[in-house]
Amino acid sequence: MTVHQAAAADLRARYARVPEGQRVRLAKPTSNLFRFRSDGARIARLDVGALDQVLEVDPVARTAKVQGMTTYERFVDATLAHGLMPMVVPQLKTITVGGALAGLGIESSSFANGLAHESVIEIEVLTGDGRLITATRDNEHADLFRGLPNSYGTLGYAVSLTVELQPVKRYVALRHLPFPDAASCAEAIATICRDGSYEGTPIDFIDGTVFDAGEQYLTLGRFTDEAPGGRAASDYTGQQIYYRSIQRLREDVLTTRDYIWRWDTDWFWCSRALGAQHPVIRRLWPDRYRRSDVYRKLVALDRRRGFSGRVRGWQGLPPEEPVIQDIEVPVERLAEFLDAFHRDIGISPVWLCPVKLREPSGWPLYPMEPDRLYVNVGFWSAVALGEGQPMGTHNRRIEELVADLDGHKSLYSDSYYTVEEFWQNYNGPAYTELKKSYDPGGRLPDLYDKCVRER
Ligand SMILES: Cc1cc2nc3c(=O)[nH]c(=O)nc-3n(C[C@H](O)[C@H](O)[C@H](O)COP(=O)(O)OP(=O)(O)OC[C@H]3O[C@@H](n4cnc5c(N)ncnc54)[C@H](O)[C@@H]3O)c2cc1C
Repeated sequence: MTVHQAAAADLRARYARVPEGQRVRLAKPTSNLFRFRSDGARIARLDVGALDQVLEVDPVARTAKVQGMTTYERFVDATLAHGLMPMVVPQLKTITVGGALAGLGIESSSFANGLAHESVIEIEVLTGDGRLITATRDNEHADLFRGLPNSYGTLGYAVSLTVELQPVKRYVALRHLPFPDAASCAEAIATICRDGSYEGTPIDFIDGTVFDAGEQYLTLGRFTDEAPGGRAASDYTGQQIYYRSIQRLREDVLTTRDYIWRWDTDWFWCSRALGAQHPVIRRLWPDRYRRSDVYRKLVALDRRRGFSGRVRGWQGLPPEEPVIQDIEVPVERLAEFLDAFHRDIGISPVWLCPVKLREPSGWPLYPMEPDRLYVNVGFWSAVALGEGQPMGTHNRRIEELVADLDGHKSLYSDSYYTVEEFWQNYNGPAYTELKKSYDPGGRLPDLYDKCVRER
Protein backbone atom coordinates (compact mmCIF):
# COMPACT_ATOMS: atom_id res chain seq x y z
CA MET A 1 0.00 0.00 0.00
CA THR A 2 1.43 3.43 -0.90
CA VAL A 3 1.58 6.30 1.56
CA HIS A 4 -1.28 7.94 -0.35
CA GLN A 5 -3.43 4.80 -0.29
CA ALA A 6 -2.85 4.52 3.46
CA ALA A 7 -3.84 8.17 3.98
CA ALA A 8 -6.99 7.74 1.88
CA ALA A 9 -7.95 4.53 3.71
CA ASP A 10 -7.35 6.26 7.06
CA LEU A 11 -9.59 9.17 6.04
CA ARG A 12 -12.30 6.73 5.04
CA ALA A 13 -12.03 4.87 8.36
CA ARG A 14 -12.21 8.11 10.37
CA TYR A 15 -15.21 9.27 8.34
CA ALA A 16 -16.95 5.95 9.04
CA ARG A 17 -16.45 6.48 12.77
CA VAL A 18 -18.26 9.85 12.81
CA PRO A 19 -21.61 9.14 14.52
CA GLU A 20 -24.70 9.17 12.28
CA GLY A 21 -26.37 12.57 12.22
CA GLN A 22 -23.21 14.49 13.14
CA ARG A 23 -22.10 17.16 10.64
CA VAL A 24 -18.63 16.83 9.14
CA ARG A 25 -16.29 19.58 8.04
CA LEU A 26 -12.84 19.41 6.46
CA ALA A 27 -10.14 20.57 8.86
CA LYS A 28 -7.76 22.55 6.60
CA PRO A 29 -5.23 25.20 7.58
CA THR A 30 -6.54 27.63 4.93
CA SER A 31 -9.79 28.41 3.12
CA ASN A 32 -10.90 30.82 0.42
CA LEU A 33 -14.57 30.61 1.20
CA PHE A 34 -16.20 33.88 2.14
CA ARG A 35 -18.96 32.48 4.27
CA PHE A 36 -17.83 32.93 7.83
CA ARG A 37 -19.54 30.91 10.52
CA SER A 38 -18.44 29.41 13.75
CA ASP A 39 -17.85 25.70 14.06
CA GLY A 40 -20.58 24.40 16.33
CA ALA A 41 -19.61 21.89 18.99
CA ARG A 42 -21.52 19.20 17.10
CA ILE A 43 -19.40 19.45 13.98
CA ALA A 44 -16.80 16.72 13.51
CA ARG A 45 -13.67 18.16 11.94
CA LEU A 46 -12.06 15.70 9.54
CA ASP A 47 -8.29 16.16 9.52
CA VAL A 48 -7.04 16.05 5.92
CA GLY A 49 -3.48 17.16 6.64
CA ALA A 50 -2.04 13.95 5.15
CA LEU A 51 -3.64 14.67 1.77
CA ASP A 52 -1.84 17.80 0.58
CA GLN A 53 1.04 16.54 -1.57
CA VAL A 54 1.90 16.29 -5.26
CA LEU A 55 2.20 12.55 -5.88
CA GLU A 56 3.66 12.52 -9.38
CA VAL A 57 4.44 14.77 -12.34
CA ASP A 58 4.74 12.97 -15.67
CA PRO A 59 6.53 15.37 -18.05
CA VAL A 60 6.03 13.09 -21.04
CA ALA A 61 2.28 12.58 -20.70
CA ARG A 62 2.04 16.16 -19.31
CA THR A 63 -0.11 15.09 -16.39
CA ALA A 64 0.22 15.19 -12.63
CA LYS A 65 -1.40 13.28 -9.80
CA VAL A 66 -2.04 15.34 -6.68
CA GLN A 67 -3.83 14.81 -3.40
CA GLY A 68 -7.10 16.68 -2.98
CA MET A 69 -5.90 19.27 -0.46
CA THR A 70 -2.74 20.23 -2.36
CA THR A 71 -2.52 24.00 -2.68
CA TYR A 72 -1.96 25.42 -6.14
CA GLU A 73 1.17 27.08 -4.76
CA ARG A 74 2.72 23.68 -4.07
CA PHE A 75 1.32 22.21 -7.29
CA VAL A 76 2.72 25.02 -9.44
CA ASP A 77 6.17 24.76 -7.88
CA ALA A 78 6.26 21.03 -8.61
CA THR A 79 5.20 21.47 -12.24
CA LEU A 80 7.33 24.54 -13.05
CA ALA A 81 10.35 22.41 -12.13
CA HIS A 82 9.47 20.42 -15.29
CA GLY A 83 8.71 23.46 -17.46
CA LEU A 84 4.96 22.82 -17.08
CA MET A 85 1.96 24.34 -15.30
CA PRO A 86 -1.70 23.38 -14.79
CA MET A 87 -3.98 24.53 -17.64
CA VAL A 88 -5.73 26.98 -15.28
CA VAL A 89 -4.28 28.17 -11.96
CA PRO A 90 -6.72 30.10 -9.74
CA GLN A 91 -5.02 33.28 -8.50
CA LEU A 92 -4.87 32.66 -4.78
CA LYS A 93 -1.96 30.51 -3.61
CA THR A 94 -3.84 28.51 -1.01
CA ILE A 95 -6.76 27.50 -3.21
CA THR A 96 -6.51 23.71 -3.34
CA VAL A 97 -7.00 21.46 -6.32
CA GLY A 98 -10.00 19.78 -4.65
CA GLY A 99 -11.43 23.17 -3.58
CA ALA A 100 -11.21 24.55 -7.11
CA LEU A 101 -13.05 21.46 -8.37
CA ALA A 102 -15.79 21.65 -5.74
CA GLY A 103 -16.07 25.46 -5.81
CA LEU A 104 -14.92 26.21 -9.39
CA GLY A 105 -11.76 28.02 -10.45
CA ILE A 106 -10.97 30.49 -13.17
CA GLU A 107 -8.02 32.54 -14.44
CA SER A 108 -6.67 34.35 -17.45
CA SER A 109 -6.12 31.13 -19.45
CA SER A 110 -9.83 30.28 -19.09
CA PHE A 111 -10.75 31.85 -22.44
CA ALA A 112 -8.97 28.82 -23.99
CA ASN A 113 -8.81 26.23 -21.21
CA GLY A 114 -12.16 26.70 -19.47
CA LEU A 115 -12.65 26.30 -15.72
CA ALA A 116 -9.87 24.83 -13.58
CA HIS A 117 -11.56 21.46 -13.13
CA GLU A 118 -11.98 20.98 -16.89
CA SER A 119 -8.43 19.67 -17.15
CA VAL A 120 -9.01 17.04 -14.47
CA ILE A 121 -8.92 13.54 -15.96
CA GLU A 122 -9.60 11.32 -12.96
CA ILE A 123 -10.86 11.90 -9.41
CA GLU A 124 -10.60 9.62 -6.42
CA VAL A 125 -13.56 10.47 -4.20
CA LEU A 126 -14.63 9.68 -0.65
CA THR A 127 -18.37 9.73 -1.24
CA GLY A 128 -20.96 10.95 1.23
CA ASP A 129 -21.96 7.33 1.87
CA GLY A 130 -18.39 6.45 2.75
CA ARG A 131 -17.08 4.67 -0.35
CA LEU A 132 -13.70 5.34 -1.90
CA ILE A 133 -14.27 5.33 -5.65
CA THR A 134 -12.61 6.56 -8.85
CA ALA A 135 -14.64 8.75 -11.19
CA THR A 136 -13.69 9.54 -14.79
CA ARG A 137 -15.49 11.09 -17.74
CA ASP A 138 -16.61 7.72 -19.02
CA ASN A 139 -16.60 5.09 -16.25
CA GLU A 140 -19.55 3.94 -14.12
CA HIS A 141 -19.16 7.06 -11.96
CA ALA A 142 -19.17 9.55 -14.84
CA ASP A 143 -22.26 11.17 -13.29
CA LEU A 144 -20.26 12.01 -10.18
CA PHE A 145 -17.28 13.17 -12.24
CA ARG A 146 -19.60 15.64 -13.96
CA GLY A 147 -21.51 16.50 -10.79
CA LEU A 148 -18.65 17.32 -8.40
CA PRO A 149 -17.94 20.78 -9.88
CA ASN A 150 -19.99 23.30 -7.86
CA SER A 151 -21.04 20.67 -5.30
CA TYR A 152 -18.97 22.29 -2.48
CA GLY A 153 -18.19 19.07 -0.67
CA THR A 154 -21.84 18.00 -0.41
CA LEU A 155 -21.55 14.82 -2.49
CA GLY A 156 -18.09 13.71 -1.42
CA TYR A 157 -14.49 14.83 -1.05
CA ALA A 158 -11.84 14.68 -3.78
CA VAL A 159 -8.98 12.69 -2.26
CA SER A 160 -6.71 12.70 -5.31
CA LEU A 161 -6.90 14.04 -8.84
CA THR A 162 -5.05 13.48 -12.11
CA VAL A 163 -4.68 16.75 -13.97
CA GLU A 164 -3.48 17.80 -17.44
CA LEU A 165 -0.56 20.24 -17.70
CA GLN A 166 0.69 22.69 -20.33
CA PRO A 167 4.24 23.74 -21.25
CA VAL A 168 5.48 27.15 -20.14
CA LYS A 169 8.28 29.51 -21.14
CA ARG A 170 10.44 31.56 -18.85
CA TYR A 171 8.51 34.84 -19.02
CA VAL A 172 5.07 36.21 -19.71
CA ALA A 173 5.11 39.44 -21.75
CA LEU A 174 2.14 41.72 -21.06
CA ARG A 175 0.24 44.39 -22.96
CA HIS A 176 -2.26 46.57 -21.12
CA LEU A 177 -4.86 47.95 -23.56
CA PRO A 178 -6.99 50.89 -22.32
CA PHE A 179 -10.70 51.26 -23.16
CA PRO A 180 -12.83 54.34 -22.51
CA ASP A 181 -16.09 52.41 -22.05
CA ALA A 182 -17.42 48.96 -21.24
CA ALA A 183 -18.97 48.41 -24.69
CA SER A 184 -15.68 48.77 -26.59
CA CYS A 185 -13.90 46.66 -23.98
CA ALA A 186 -16.51 43.87 -24.34
CA GLU A 187 -16.23 44.02 -28.13
CA ALA A 188 -12.45 43.65 -27.90
CA ILE A 189 -12.80 40.69 -25.52
CA ALA A 190 -15.08 38.93 -27.99
CA THR A 191 -12.75 39.53 -30.94
CA ILE A 192 -9.48 38.69 -29.18
CA CYS A 193 -10.88 35.50 -27.63
CA ARG A 194 -12.39 34.41 -30.95
CA ASP A 195 -9.06 34.91 -32.75
CA GLY A 196 -6.80 33.83 -29.88
CA SER A 197 -4.60 36.73 -30.93
CA TYR A 198 -4.32 40.51 -31.03
CA GLU A 199 -2.90 42.39 -34.02
CA GLY A 200 -1.53 39.10 -35.34
CA THR A 201 0.25 38.10 -32.09
CA PRO A 202 -1.12 34.98 -30.39
CA ILE A 203 -2.11 35.29 -26.73
CA ASP A 204 -1.87 32.76 -23.90
CA PHE A 205 -3.70 34.83 -21.28
CA ILE A 206 -6.30 37.59 -21.08
CA ASP A 207 -7.95 39.34 -18.16
CA GLY A 208 -9.17 42.86 -17.44
CA THR A 209 -9.36 45.53 -14.75
CA VAL A 210 -12.10 48.15 -14.52
CA PHE A 211 -11.18 51.21 -12.46
CA ASP A 212 -14.39 53.07 -13.28
CA ALA A 213 -16.93 53.42 -16.10
CA GLY A 214 -14.46 55.47 -18.16
CA GLU A 215 -11.27 53.55 -17.42
CA GLN A 216 -10.82 49.86 -18.15
CA TYR A 217 -7.90 47.77 -19.40
CA LEU A 218 -7.46 44.38 -20.96
CA THR A 219 -4.19 42.68 -20.12
CA LEU A 220 -2.92 40.26 -22.76
CA GLY A 221 -0.16 37.83 -21.86
CA ARG A 222 2.02 35.63 -24.00
CA PHE A 223 4.76 33.19 -23.07
CA THR A 224 8.23 34.15 -24.22
CA ASP A 225 11.74 32.75 -23.65
CA GLU A 226 13.34 36.20 -23.80
CA ALA A 227 12.12 39.34 -22.05
CA PRO A 228 11.16 41.78 -24.87
CA GLY A 229 13.95 44.28 -25.53
CA GLY A 230 16.12 42.47 -22.97
CA ARG A 231 14.37 44.40 -20.17
CA ALA A 232 14.43 43.11 -16.61
CA ALA A 233 11.29 41.38 -15.39
CA SER A 234 9.15 43.52 -13.06
CA ASP A 235 8.75 42.49 -9.45
CA TYR A 236 5.43 43.19 -7.74
CA THR A 237 6.12 41.12 -4.64
CA GLY A 238 7.91 44.03 -2.92
CA GLN A 239 7.10 47.75 -2.80
CA GLN A 240 5.52 47.99 -6.28
CA ILE A 241 1.85 47.09 -6.66
CA TYR A 242 0.74 45.10 -9.69
CA TYR A 243 -2.74 46.52 -10.26
CA ARG A 244 -1.41 50.07 -10.17
CA SER A 245 1.10 49.20 -12.92
CA ILE A 246 -1.80 48.46 -15.27
CA GLN A 247 -2.75 52.15 -15.31
CA ARG A 248 0.86 53.29 -15.66
CA LEU A 249 2.41 50.92 -18.22
CA ARG A 250 1.36 49.80 -21.68
CA GLU A 251 3.86 46.89 -21.76
CA ASP A 252 5.48 44.80 -19.06
CA VAL A 253 7.15 41.45 -18.46
CA LEU A 254 7.06 39.08 -15.49
CA THR A 255 8.65 35.73 -14.80
CA THR A 256 6.07 33.01 -15.37
CA ARG A 257 5.88 32.24 -11.63
CA ASP A 258 5.37 35.91 -10.76
CA TYR A 259 2.73 36.20 -13.49
CA ILE A 260 0.83 33.21 -12.07
CA TRP A 261 0.77 34.80 -8.59
CA ARG A 262 0.54 38.46 -9.66
CA TRP A 263 -2.84 38.86 -7.94
CA ASP A 264 -1.98 37.01 -4.74
CA THR A 265 0.54 39.49 -3.30
CA ASP A 266 -2.14 42.16 -2.81
CA TRP A 267 -5.18 39.85 -2.94
CA PHE A 268 -6.00 41.63 -6.21
CA TRP A 269 -6.35 45.11 -4.61
CA CYS A 270 -8.05 44.02 -1.38
CA SER A 271 -4.89 44.40 0.76
CA ARG A 272 -5.66 48.14 0.50
CA ALA A 273 -8.39 47.85 3.16
CA LEU A 274 -5.78 46.46 5.57
CA GLY A 275 -3.32 49.29 5.01
CA ALA A 276 -0.78 47.07 3.21
CA GLN A 277 -0.57 49.47 0.25
CA HIS A 278 0.35 52.50 2.31
CA PRO A 279 4.05 53.15 1.50
CA VAL A 280 5.12 53.29 5.16
CA ILE A 281 3.13 50.26 6.30
CA ARG A 282 4.21 48.36 3.18
CA ARG A 283 7.87 48.84 4.00
CA LEU A 284 7.27 47.50 7.50
CA TRP A 285 5.05 44.61 6.37
CA PRO A 286 7.29 41.48 6.15
CA ASP A 287 7.55 40.11 2.58
CA ARG A 288 6.42 36.64 3.61
CA TYR A 289 3.15 38.03 5.00
CA ARG A 290 2.25 39.86 1.78
CA ARG A 291 -0.07 37.11 0.57
CA SER A 292 -3.79 36.45 0.28
CA ASP A 293 -4.10 33.84 3.05
CA VAL A 294 -2.63 36.28 5.59
CA TYR A 295 -5.08 39.03 4.58
CA ARG A 296 -7.98 36.58 4.66
CA LYS A 297 -7.10 35.53 8.21
CA LEU A 298 -7.10 39.20 9.25
CA VAL A 299 -10.50 39.75 7.64
CA ALA A 300 -11.89 36.59 9.29
CA LEU A 301 -10.69 37.85 12.67
CA ASP A 302 -12.32 41.23 12.07
CA ARG A 303 -15.60 39.56 11.06
CA ARG A 304 -15.56 37.42 14.20
CA ARG A 305 -14.82 40.36 16.49
CA GLY A 306 -16.94 42.94 14.61
CA PHE A 307 -14.13 45.46 15.07
CA SER A 308 -14.50 47.58 11.90
CA GLY A 309 -18.31 47.58 12.25
CA ARG A 310 -17.98 49.07 15.74
CA VAL A 311 -15.55 51.72 14.50
CA ARG A 312 -18.04 52.74 11.78
CA GLY A 313 -20.73 52.95 14.45
CA TRP A 314 -18.58 55.24 16.63
CA GLN A 315 -17.93 57.43 13.59
CA GLY A 316 -21.68 57.69 12.97
CA LEU A 317 -21.37 55.92 9.60
CA PRO A 318 -24.10 53.57 8.30
CA PRO A 319 -23.46 49.80 8.51
CA GLU A 320 -21.86 48.15 5.50
CA GLU A 321 -22.83 44.99 3.68
CA PRO A 322 -19.95 42.78 2.48
CA VAL A 323 -20.26 42.36 -1.30
CA ILE A 324 -17.73 39.71 -2.26
CA GLN A 325 -18.75 37.93 -5.40
CA ASP A 326 -17.70 36.42 -8.70
CA ILE A 327 -20.39 36.24 -11.37
CA GLU A 328 -20.34 35.66 -15.08
CA VAL A 329 -22.47 37.02 -17.88
CA PRO A 330 -22.32 36.37 -21.64
CA VAL A 331 -19.82 38.77 -23.22
CA GLU A 332 -22.58 40.56 -25.14
CA ARG A 333 -24.29 41.45 -21.82
CA LEU A 334 -21.11 42.65 -20.06
CA ALA A 335 -21.62 46.35 -20.77
CA GLU A 336 -25.19 46.21 -19.44
CA PHE A 337 -23.97 44.49 -16.28
CA LEU A 338 -21.18 46.99 -15.68
CA ASP A 339 -23.45 50.00 -16.30
CA ALA A 340 -25.95 48.75 -13.72
CA PHE A 341 -23.17 47.71 -11.37
CA HIS A 342 -21.48 51.13 -11.39
CA ARG A 343 -24.85 52.80 -10.83
CA ASP A 344 -26.29 50.51 -8.12
CA ILE A 345 -23.28 49.03 -6.31
CA GLY A 346 -20.30 51.23 -7.10
CA ILE A 347 -17.37 49.03 -6.06
CA SER A 348 -14.03 49.54 -7.83
CA PRO A 349 -11.76 48.18 -9.11
CA VAL A 350 -13.50 45.21 -10.71
CA TRP A 351 -11.79 42.18 -12.25
CA LEU A 352 -12.79 40.76 -15.65
CA CYS A 353 -11.91 37.28 -16.88
CA PRO A 354 -13.24 35.77 -20.12
CA VAL A 355 -14.17 32.09 -19.89
CA LYS A 356 -15.46 29.54 -22.35
CA LEU A 357 -16.17 25.95 -21.31
CA ARG A 358 -13.89 23.30 -22.72
CA GLU A 359 -16.35 20.47 -22.15
CA PRO A 360 -18.84 20.31 -25.04
CA SER A 361 -21.65 18.96 -22.85
CA GLY A 362 -21.14 21.35 -19.91
CA TRP A 363 -21.36 20.69 -16.16
CA PRO A 364 -24.79 19.93 -14.68
CA LEU A 365 -24.54 21.85 -11.39
CA TYR A 366 -23.23 25.03 -13.01
CA PRO A 367 -25.18 25.28 -16.21
CA MET A 368 -23.04 27.58 -18.37
CA GLU A 369 -23.66 27.07 -22.07
CA PRO A 370 -20.84 25.37 -23.97
CA ASP A 371 -19.61 27.32 -27.02
CA ARG A 372 -20.60 30.62 -25.45
CA LEU A 373 -18.06 33.19 -24.28
CA TYR A 374 -18.78 34.54 -20.80
CA VAL A 375 -16.94 37.15 -18.79
CA ASN A 376 -16.37 36.54 -15.10
CA VAL A 377 -16.71 39.74 -13.08
CA GLY A 378 -15.11 39.75 -9.61
CA PHE A 379 -15.72 42.40 -6.94
CA TRP A 380 -14.68 42.15 -3.33
CA SER A 381 -15.54 44.96 -0.97
CA ALA A 382 -18.35 46.35 1.23
CA VAL A 383 -21.13 48.80 0.38
CA ALA A 384 -22.94 51.09 2.82
CA LEU A 385 -26.58 50.27 3.50
CA GLY A 386 -29.12 53.05 3.06
CA GLU A 387 -31.68 53.99 5.71
CA GLY A 388 -33.90 50.95 6.38
CA GLN A 389 -32.08 48.67 3.92
CA PRO A 390 -31.61 45.19 5.39
CA MET A 391 -28.35 43.24 5.15
CA GLY A 392 -28.41 41.45 1.78
CA THR A 393 -29.89 44.35 -0.21
CA HIS A 394 -26.84 44.76 -2.47
CA ASN A 395 -26.12 41.05 -2.89
CA ARG A 396 -29.78 40.52 -3.75
CA ARG A 397 -29.57 43.22 -6.41
CA ILE A 398 -26.60 41.41 -7.96
CA GLU A 399 -28.46 38.12 -7.96
CA GLU A 400 -31.36 39.80 -9.81
CA LEU A 401 -29.06 41.47 -12.29
CA VAL A 402 -27.22 38.26 -13.06
CA ALA A 403 -30.50 36.40 -13.58
CA ASP A 404 -31.80 39.16 -15.90
CA LEU A 405 -28.65 39.00 -18.01
CA ASP A 406 -28.57 35.22 -18.43
CA GLY A 407 -25.58 34.82 -16.14
CA HIS A 408 -24.51 32.77 -13.09
CA LYS A 409 -23.08 33.45 -9.68
CA SER A 410 -20.41 31.48 -7.80
CA LEU A 411 -21.39 30.13 -4.40
CA TYR A 412 -18.20 30.70 -2.38
CA SER A 413 -19.66 33.78 -0.70
CA ASP A 414 -23.05 35.00 0.57
CA SER A 415 -26.17 34.02 -1.37
CA TYR A 416 -29.75 35.05 -0.74
CA TYR A 417 -31.67 32.93 -3.25
CA THR A 418 -35.01 31.38 -2.33
CA VAL A 419 -35.06 27.57 -2.52
CA GLU A 420 -37.00 27.73 -5.79
CA GLU A 421 -34.62 30.21 -7.45
CA PHE A 422 -31.60 28.31 -6.24
CA TRP A 423 -32.61 24.96 -7.67
CA GLN A 424 -33.71 26.54 -10.90
CA ASN A 425 -30.24 28.10 -11.25
CA TYR A 426 -28.20 25.14 -10.08
CA ASN A 427 -30.13 22.21 -11.58
CA GLY A 428 -32.12 20.77 -8.68
CA PRO A 429 -33.20 17.57 -10.52
CA ALA A 430 -29.59 16.60 -11.39
CA TYR A 431 -28.43 17.34 -7.84
CA THR A 432 -31.23 15.23 -6.31
CA GLU A 433 -30.22 12.26 -8.46
CA LEU A 434 -26.55 12.62 -7.48
CA LYS A 435 -27.41 12.92 -3.81
CA LYS A 436 -29.50 9.73 -4.04
CA SER A 437 -26.61 7.84 -5.63
CA TYR A 438 -23.68 9.09 -3.54
CA ASP A 439 -25.07 10.34 -0.23
CA PRO A 440 -28.51 8.76 0.21
CA GLY A 441 -28.35 9.03 4.01
CA GLY A 442 -27.60 12.77 3.84
CA ARG A 443 -24.39 12.53 5.89
CA LEU A 444 -23.08 15.59 4.07
CA PRO A 445 -25.22 18.76 4.00
CA ASP A 446 -27.50 19.72 1.16
CA LEU A 447 -26.06 22.31 -1.27
CA TYR A 448 -28.76 24.90 -0.60
CA ASP A 449 -28.39 24.53 3.16
CA LYS A 450 -24.62 24.85 2.93
CA CYS A 451 -24.46 27.79 0.53
CA VAL A 452 -27.52 29.83 1.48
CA ARG A 453 -29.29 28.82 4.70
CA GLU A 454 -26.19 28.52 6.86
CA ARG A 455 -24.90 31.90 5.83
C1 LIG B 1 -11.82 37.30 -2.64
C2 LIG B 1 -11.95 36.02 -3.42
C3 LIG B 1 -11.63 36.01 -4.74
C4 LIG B 1 -11.71 34.84 -5.45
N1 LIG B 1 -11.33 34.87 -6.71
C5 LIG B 1 -11.27 33.77 -7.38
C6 LIG B 1 -10.78 33.80 -8.67
O1 LIG B 1 -10.47 34.87 -9.18
N2 LIG B 1 -10.61 32.67 -9.34
C7 LIG B 1 -11.00 31.52 -8.78
O2 LIG B 1 -10.81 30.50 -9.39
N3 LIG B 1 -11.58 31.44 -7.58
C8 LIG B 1 -11.69 32.54 -6.86
N4 LIG B 1 -12.23 32.50 -5.63
C9 LIG B 1 -13.00 31.33 -5.18
C10 LIG B 1 -12.24 30.09 -4.78
O3 LIG B 1 -11.63 29.50 -5.89
C11 LIG B 1 -13.25 29.07 -4.25
O4 LIG B 1 -13.79 29.59 -3.07
C12 LIG B 1 -12.61 27.71 -3.97
O5 LIG B 1 -13.62 26.76 -3.71
C13 LIG B 1 -11.70 27.79 -2.77
O6 LIG B 1 -10.95 26.61 -2.65
P1 LIG B 1 -10.21 26.19 -1.29
O7 LIG B 1 -9.31 25.12 -1.69
O8 LIG B 1 -9.66 27.35 -0.59
O9 LIG B 1 -11.39 25.49 -0.53
P2 LIG B 1 -12.10 25.81 0.84
O10 LIG B 1 -12.33 27.27 0.95
O11 LIG B 1 -11.42 25.12 1.91
O12 LIG B 1 -13.46 25.06 0.57
C14 LIG B 1 -14.36 25.49 -0.42
C15 LIG B 1 -15.49 24.50 -0.52
O13 LIG B 1 -15.07 23.36 -1.22
C16 LIG B 1 -15.18 22.20 -0.43
N5 LIG B 1 -13.96 21.44 -0.62
C17 LIG B 1 -12.68 21.83 -0.28
N6 LIG B 1 -11.83 20.85 -0.62
C18 LIG B 1 -12.55 19.87 -1.18
C19 LIG B 1 -12.22 18.61 -1.73
N7 LIG B 1 -10.99 18.14 -1.76
N8 LIG B 1 -13.23 17.86 -2.24
C20 LIG B 1 -14.51 18.28 -2.23
N9 LIG B 1 -14.87 19.47 -1.70
C21 LIG B 1 -13.91 20.24 -1.19
C22 LIG B 1 -15.35 22.66 1.00
O14 LIG B 1 -16.14 21.74 1.72
C23 LIG B 1 -16.03 23.99 0.82
O15 LIG B 1 -17.41 23.86 0.71
C24 LIG B 1 -12.19 33.65 -4.87
C25 LIG B 1 -12.53 33.65 -3.52
C26 LIG B 1 -12.40 34.83 -2.82
C27 LIG B 1 -12.77 34.81 -1.39
